[in-house]
Amino acid sequence: MALDMGIDLGTATVLVFLEGKGVVLHEPSVVALDQNTSRVLAVGEEAQLMLGRTPGNIVAIRPLRDGVIADFDLTESMLKYFIKKTLTHRRLFRPRVVVCVPGETTSVEQKAVVEAVMRTGARSAYLIEETRAAALGAGLEIFQPSGSMIIDIGGGTSDVAVISLGEVVISSSVRVGGDKFDAAIIRYIKRKHNLLVGERTAEDLKIRVATVFPGNREKSLEIRGRNLLTGLPNSVVLSSSEIIDALEDPLLQIIQSVRYVLERILPELAGDIVDKGIILTGGGALLDGLDKRLSQETGVPVYLADDPVTCVARGTGIAIKILDKISPTLIASRGRETSYTSNLIKQKFQG
Ligand code: ADP
Ligand code: MG
Repeated sequence: MALDMGIDLGTATVLVFLEGKGVVLHEPSVVALDQNTSRVLAVGEEAQLMLGRTPGNIVAIRPLRDGVIADFDLTESMLKYFIKKTLTHRRLFRPRVVVCVPGETTSVEQKAVVEAVMRTGARSAYLIEETRAAALGAGLEIFQPSGSMIIDIGGGTSDVAVISLGEVVISSSVRVGGDKFDAAIIRYIKRKHNLLVGERTAEDLKIRVATVFPGNREKSLEIRGRNLLTGLPNSVVLSSSEIIDALEDPLLQIIQSVRYVLERILPELAGDIVDKGIILTGGGALLDGLDKRLSQETGVPVYLADDPVTCVARGTGIAIKILDKISPTLIASRGRETSYTSNLIKQKFQG
């Protein structure tokens, strides 16, 4: 028996779900490349470790960074590497694979990902929207004739959708996620404190100190960077209340995208969503106070899903289990013929 597989090909993280085993791989979506020869030196965890510790000719690239497939060859290399790594000792099996890509990818890129999965030896490959996988993983009853609303906040994109009768009714996607919050923190510290800090430091601050709901958290952290005036190392203490304003700009873009969807749903579905609330998934959803703030801004209750980081991966696993039911609505390749009959693309709205 082949072990079927679900893959969450995210902008920040790749997770692989194996039938009967659960999430078996969870690594950063990073590829280390030799700039001179364009050779891939390492992928995932290993590539991440090389970051900043390597000679100048080695660069670490996140091929899906802003939610678009910036470099398809690297994306394919990364995908192949993770599939092979998961299937060691199980090479003979040809799994069925359900893969999920960020909402900003184009239909051409989506088809290319499905074909790339087939080239790794899969028996058949299917592509599911991030929000639908997230909803399944969060345990929502998406096949009911009732609206469910989901917001998935990743590293590069935030995807918002309303799902009813198993399909996405309306969706919106913006190229704003955890990365933009990190960038906003870097800009703020540069402007206010003349201090240049790295992405790791900014992410650390975001996770340990930041909040987007005033008063929800009072933490502080001493961070180090390079003073832009003296050129020397320097440190500064930053608090939750100080950096709250820095996050406002990317946050407003997410709020706008959520409002865009809320303003366009049919009245009956709107009623369902007010009753059930909006479910938050993705690593970016862990930003302190985000649920409260989104609820305040929309007037609709907002709940954080259990284990939001693995929702999409677990959702791809569920999609495999119910493949007979769900496959007619997925982009699919079954070897010779590839069907793109899915209506998921034409239903997509740009926020
Ligand atoms: P993707 O699906 O795009 O790969 P993920 O769902 O893995 O992204 O989310 C990655 C983002 O989540 C990163 O920007 C990371 O900084 C952010 N993140 C993870 N944990 C937290 C946390 N506790 N607080 C705020 N942001 C977080
Ligand atoms: Mg994701």
